[in-house]
Amino acid sequence: RGKRAFIAGVADDNGYGWAIAKALAAAGAEILVGTWVPALNIFETSLRRGKFDESRKLPDGSLMEIAKVYPLDAVYDSPEDVPEDVKTNKRYAGSTKWTVKEAAESVKEDFGSIDILVHSLANGPEVTKPLLETSRSGYLAAMSASSYSFVSLLQHFLPIMNSGGASISLTYIASERTIPGYGGGMSSAKAALESDTRVLAFEAGRKGNIRVNTISAGPLGSRAAKAIGFIEKMIEYSYVNAPLEKELLADEVGNAAAFLVSPLASAITGSTVYVDNGLNTMAIAV
Ligand code: NAD
Repeated sequence: RGKRAFIAGVADDNGYGWAIAKALAAAGAEILVGTWVPALNIFETSLRRGKFDESRKLPDGSLMEIAKVYPLDAVYDSPEDVPEDVKTNKRYAGSTKWTVKEAAESVKEDFGSIDILVHSLANGPEVTKPLLETSRSGYLAAMSASSYSFVSLLQHFLPIMNSGGASISLTYIASERTIPGYGGGMSSAKAALESDTRVLAFEAGRKGNIRVNTISAGPLGSRAAKAIGFIEKMIEYSYVNAPLEKELLADEVGNAAAFLVSPLASAITGSTVYVDNGLNTMAIAV
């Protein structure tokens, strides 16, 4: 039987989530995605109109199929948590069952179980502000969208994950070394995500024989990264200073993720794995 993957955080064909979906599809997995509610309409329309057909191409020439797109807002666990203004917001009102709990229930209803859970989402409303100028609500919002969202996803999907399955998330080295510009509590959120990877690896390993790892990825000019503002500078810095003097492709992160959730990585859990052309190993700029 082929594996089934749920990938949270795909809303276009530029980010790491899309690349991971492609790598998993190329390896024969069935692909389900969770798309942020406000981005759902445009993503589904673009998909339907063939706007992504070129980037849906897999190495064997076939096109990646997405079995189903689920609306998702990973900052809400269940309907009781959704504030009135969000409920009635017209970008949300057109969709239903998009809290984490409901998304897991819908996937269970439609497909019964999954083998692979991917968390490829983050949000920090004050990311452009230095930590020293970040508000409490901005900091907590970054943690909620970028760290607790993974705890919640694993909590709700674990019961429908087949034994031997695996999950993966995406982190960034700003968690462990200072990257000026990655503010608003996003560095804190990534530190929490990496620590949680270790604790959840133990808990999900013991509870469901599920592995939990995170990829510390190098810079990519995704939609989310462009919102931060300094991504072109980081890409250039990496190109000039990393041991491997080449552009980092989203597909390289996709391939590493496919390895980490596959049986080839059956003894790897609780790890932060760098996929960054080796940049993390450098102590000085070249
Ligand atoms: P992306 O824009 O492709 O992905 C981020 C996704 O998160 C978007 O699809 C967005 O709609 C979704 N999202 C935001 N808030 C959400 C919510 N509340 N509920 C559900 N979905 C929500 O950008 P990306 O850079 O590929 O980001 C994917 C992951 O990779 C993130 O965790 C990011 O921090 C991480 N990462 C990115 C870089 C980089 O340079 N781009 C480097 C290291 C790690």
